[in-house]
Amino acid sequence: MHVHLFLVKVRLKGCVAAVLAQLCLSLFSLTLLPSAQATPLTLQSLHQPVPGGVAIVALPSTNRTPPRVTFLQKPVLVVAGQEQRWVAVVGLPLDLPIQTQVLIVTEQQVNSESKSEIKDKRYREQQPTTREIKFEVNDKKYREQRITVSNSRHVNPLADDMTRITRELELQNAAYRQFSPNTPSNILFDPPVKGPLSSPFGLKRFFNGEPRAPHSGLDFAVPTGTPVAAPAAGKVILTGDYFFNGNTVFLDHGQGLITMYCHLSVIDVKVGDTLARGQVLGKVGATGRVTGAHLHWNVSLNDARVDPAIFIGQFKP
Ligand SMILES: [Zn+2]
Repeated sequence: MHVHLFLVKVRLKGCVAAVLAQLCLSLFSLTLLPSAQATPLTLQSLHQPVPGGVAIVALPSTNRTPPRVTFLQKPVLVVAGQEQRWVAVVGLPLDLPIQTQVLIVTEQQVNSESKSEIKDKRYREQQPTTREIKFEVNDKKYREQRITVSNSRHVNPLADDMTRITRELELQNAAYRQFSPNTPSNILFDPPVKGPLSSPFGLKRFFNGEPRAPHSGLDFAVPTGTPVAAPAAGKVILTGDYFFNGNTVFLDHGQGLITMYCHLSVIDVKVGDTLARGQVLGKVGATGRVTGAHLHWNVSLNDARVDPAIFIGQFKP
């Protein structure tokens, strides 16, 4: 009985968490920020090791095949860096503690002996080796935002809304967990729309005084009808019209690099479509829970939502 009650409690807590997570995805381009000059993008410029940021970690491997890397039990994007060294591109969740973090790196040892030596039966199959690579995470203070919502259902959804919200959240979370083997065409992104940034990533939000999950993406203040372009080649893995996010498209760029586009007026693609870099996936709108037209853009690495501004050279420490 106790166990049962506990489970019920956990389920309810899960629902609340779902609402909190979803609220952050929606609405409100309030604070318009001056558009900063983009800094030149390099792989190293993606290294912003803060919660909600990205760590670029050089891997001690010169093998031709990339090592397998996990962080918090999730597979991590590995790309070729300089001098044929492999580099892990690690998404750091917003709730990550400020302490030394550990990557688990597994690689198949390549035997350096020649084929003739292998024929000499001196070849010895080696087991994959696993080692830990440590890296540091710095603190970052995110600003607070207090928002007044006239419709309280947007802050505390009704029970009927919760059924829909929970179902939609499961679909979207599953999309973020996908890990396809292909390497992204580019990880230094083109902005999906041309226009000023509005609400930044990571804002701590209070709706009608109630704390809600922080802003999981980056908003662009652009009018309805503005075409939204894929920032890199990708496959459409999920589309839908969701309670909070409105018309939404998820793109899989490979190896756990997933992007999401919300509140679209029109979706121009369908699940399974393969998009070229720059191809239009839909148009900006005001669907879902919004007060006005804008694009909400999420970037996810190893199932961690990270600051999209990092990928377009607009990150502010
Ligand atoms: Zn947003």
